[in-house]
Amino acid sequence: MIKASLRSHLTLWFAGLSLLTLMSVGFYVGHIATEQMKQASGNALLSTARSAAELLGAQLHERQLEVSLLSRAPLFKHGDLGDPDILSSMELRSQSRAEYAWMGVADANGRVRQAVNGLLVNQSVKERPWFQAGLRGAYTGDPHEAVLLAKLLPGTASGEPLRFIDFAAPIRNAEGQVIGVLGAHAHWSWATRIVDAAVLRKDMTPEVEALIVDHDGKVLYPEALMGQRVANMPVARENHSDNAGWSVGDGYLTSVVAVPTPSSTDLTWYIAVRQPLDIALQPARILFYKLLVLGVIAAIVFALVAYYLALYLSRPIEQLAKSAKRVQNQQPGVTFPRDHSVREIAQLGQSLQGMTESLLGKERELQEANASLEATVAQRTAALTQANADLLKLATHDALTGVYNRRRFDEKLNECNLLFQRTGRPFALLFIDADHFKQINDTHGHAIGDEVLHQLARLIQDNTRATDFVARYGGEEFAVLLPEVEEPESPEVVAEKIRAAIAAAIFATVGHVTVSIGIGLAEISDSNTTALIKRADQQLYQAKWSGRNRVAPQARVTERH
Ligand code: GH3
Ligand code: MG
Ligand code: MG
Repeated sequence: MIKASLRSHLTLWFAGLSLLTLMSVGFYVGHIATEQMKQASGNALLSTARSAAELLGAQLHERQLEVSLLSRAPLFKHGDLGDPDILSSMELRSQSRAEYAWMGVADANGRVRQAVNGLLVNQSVKERPWFQAGLRGAYTGDPHEAVLLAKLLPGTASGEPLRFIDFAAPIRNAEGQVIGVLGAHAHWSWATRIVDAAVLRKDMTPEVEALIVDHDGKVLYPEALMGQRVANMPVARENHSDNAGWSVGDGYLTSVVAVPTPSSTDLTWYIAVRQPLDIALQPARILFYKLLVLGVIAAIVFALVAYYLALYLSRPIEQLAKSAKRVQNQQPGVTFPRDHSVREIAQLGQSLQGMTESLLGKERELQEANASLEATVAQRTAALTQANADLLKLATHDALTGVYNRRRFDEKLNECNLLFQRTGRPFALLFIDADHFKQINDTHGHAIGDEVLHQLARLIQDNTRATDFVARYGGEEFAVLLPEVEEPESPEVVAEKIRAAIAAAIFATVGHVTVSIGIGLAEISDSNTTALIKRADQQLYQAKWSGRNRVAPQARVTERH
C-alpha cells in the first residue's frame, strides 16, 4: 500500500468531495433547468401555434363566406351568367382583396362565362375539383399548383410554382336550380403569410419555424419541406393542459394545433410550430456550463484551502514524526514541538516529550545499574580470586606457623626424589624437633607453646635459602628439604646454623628453646622416600639420645669414615 502524506490525503479528499458535490448539484440543477426550459419553450410554441391556427382558420372562413355570399347575390337570380353586373361585382371584391388570383363564374357545363381580367373565359373547368365540388356546395380545397392559369399569370419572385387555394360555391336561379359555380383562387402565399406573420409577431425566439400540415401529416408549407412528414404529430387536444400540446422528436420541440377550418368543408389542416431542441434548451445548457465552470473553480479553491489547512495541520505532525524517528535512532537532544493552536497536536507533542524524557531517564538508570553491576561483579571476582588464593595457601600451608604443611611436604619430597632419580644430584632431608616441648606447654600454656612454634618456624626459614623447602611435619617437629647439596657436609652446616640460631634466640616468656636435628641424605638405592625418612628419623632420635640441642649427621657420612 502506498503511504501518502496527510497533506495529499486531505487535499485529494477535499477537492474530490467538493467537485463531486458541485457536479451533482450542477447536473441536478441543469436537469431541472432543462425540463423547465422545455416546458416554457413548448408552451410558448403551443400558444404561437394556436394563435396562428386561429388566425388562419378565421381568414379561411372569411374567404369561404365571401364566396358563398357572392354566389347568393340577387343578380344571379335571373339566371344570366353573362350579366356584366356579375363581372363588376367580382372585380369589386377581387380588387379590394389582393389575395385573389382569379375569380370567375362557370356555367353548369363547366365553361367559364365571365372572369376578372377575362382570364380563362370560355375555357372549360369541368375537370377541376373545385368545379365539381362547387356544384354540390361550398368548397375550400387543399393548395395545388396552378394548372390552367400558370401560363397566364406572372410567376412568383422566388420562382416557386404558383399555388392556389380554391374556394367555390354553387350558383342557383330563382327556382333554386344550380346553374353554375362561382370559383375563386386565392394565392397560397396569402395563407402562408398569415401563418408567418402570426408566428413572427408572437414569438421573437430564434429559429422558430411554422409549418402547415395536411390531414395526412404531410407538409404543405414551407415549399422546401413539401411532402415530408412531420415526426410524431401530437395534435394538441383542445382545452388540454400544459405539456400535452408539444412534444420532442427529430431534434425539434414541436407544437401542433388543428386549424379550425370552415365547417362546410372537410378540409383538415394543422399548424406545426417547431424550434430546434438545442436552440430551445440553449439557456439551460449555458446555465449548466456556468455551473460546471463554477464547480471546477470551487473545487480548485477548496483544494487550495484544503492544501493550506492540511499544511497547517500536518507540519507539526511531520515534525513530531521526524523527532520520533530521531529518538528511534538514538540521536541526542531531541525535542518535540509543544506549541500549536490545535489542542490535540500540542498535547501530542507534550506527551511525546514527556515519554521521551522518562524513556531516556530509564535508559540512564539502566546504564548506571549496569555499571554498578559490573563493578560488583569485578569486586566479587577479585574476592573470589583472593579466596581461591587463600584456599590454595590454606591447602598447602600450615595455619599456625605459615610454613608448608605435611601434605605439601609429601608431594615435594616425591618430586625431589623423582628429580634425583633422573639427575643423580643428591638432596638432603632435615628433621627438626623441639626439645622438651611438653614442658613448655605445661609450664606456660598451650598458647605460649603456639607462639614458640611460630617463632621456631621463622627462625628455620630465616636460616635456610629461598630454594630450600621448610614444612611443619607434625606437632613440634619441622622438616627441611635441601635440594642442592654441593658437598656431603653442607646439610650439616645448614643444620648446625639452624640449631645455633635457635639456641641463641630469646623466646618471649619462655626464654631459651633448643632443637635436635636429624639429617638424611637421598640415595640412588632408595626405592621410595620411606627409607630416607626413616634414616632422618633415626638420626633425630640419635641427636635426642646424644643429649639434645645438637645435630646428628647422616649415617652414610659416618660409614665413609
Ligand atoms: P623431647 O625433647 O623428647 O622431644 O620431649 P618433648 O616434650 O618435646 O616430646 P613429647 O613428644 O613428649 O611431647 C611433645 C609435646 O608437644 C606434646 C604436645 O602437647 C606438644 N605439642 C604438639 N603439638 C603442639 C602444638 O601444636 N602446640 C602446642 N602448644 N603444643 C604442641
Ligand atoms: Mg616430637
Ligand atoms: Mg620434642
